[in-house]
Amino acid sequence: MLFALLLPVLLPNFAGMIRTEVIQAVLEELKPYNATLVAVTKTRSIEDLQALYQLGLHIFGENRVQEMLPKREALPNDIQWHLIGHLQTNKVKYIAPFIALIHSVDSFKLLQEINKHAQKHNRTIACLLQMHIAQEETKFGMDERELFTMLESPELLELENIRIAGLMGMASNTDDMQQVRREFAGLRQTFEKLKYWLPDIHILSMGMSNDYRIALEEGSNMVRIGSKLFA
Ligand SMILES: *Cc1c(COP(=O)(O)O)cnc(C)c1O
Repeated sequence: MLFALLLPVLLPNFAGMIRTEVIQAVLEELKPYNATLVAVTKTRSIEDLQALYQLGLHIFGENRVQEMLPKREALPNDIQWHLIGHLQTNKVKYIAPFIALIHSVDSFKLLQEINKHAQKHNRTIACLLQMHIAQEETKFGMDERELFTMLESPELLELENIRIAGLMGMASNTDDMQQVRREFAGLRQTFEKLKYWLPDIHILSMGMSNDYRIALEEGSNMVRIGSKLFA
């Protein structure tokens, strides 16, 4: 009897951990900006990823190579896998055959390594350069000087199997939303400058669950949202 009473309460939880209505609302919010949703699936189960896939989400972001590989094995092969976390050079070989976009390139050495493995697989790998825009010391990424030094280097032209498609950044983890807005606006400015150098660049990856609306207002066209999508 007690179980029968509880059943309707328990069922929604059994049915899955994704927030269908929230996800649909987020997709609607992105439309006027022509922005792409990268569903950040790190730490989530294969079942959660399958549920997102059923809803029509086919771009998944993971921050660890070791976690991405088994998930990719278990899921349909029309998913675009994006690496959003720090990438060690010795891990590049595992993702080179399939990765759709690497958001977290922050050194020339890493670009060279990606190029080398892309070449082995006869691919061109799209990369975003990760910029350090937050106040925290801990976040990875380059500053503008490092970025332009790298772009001026003649060796960059030799990397024929990578394509620099844009920039990525993470704002400070703070309640001061004016601060967050300034950081996104700064990244947008760098992005606009970069377009003079590299007419190919078109992706500005900024915004997560807590700050994606500000990011969109400041020119983001790719948001990386995780926790908001899950119950
Ligand atoms: C985890 C993560 C996200 C998503 O963060 P949420 O707050 O869960 O939306 C976005 N980008 C990167 C680089 C992440 O590691």
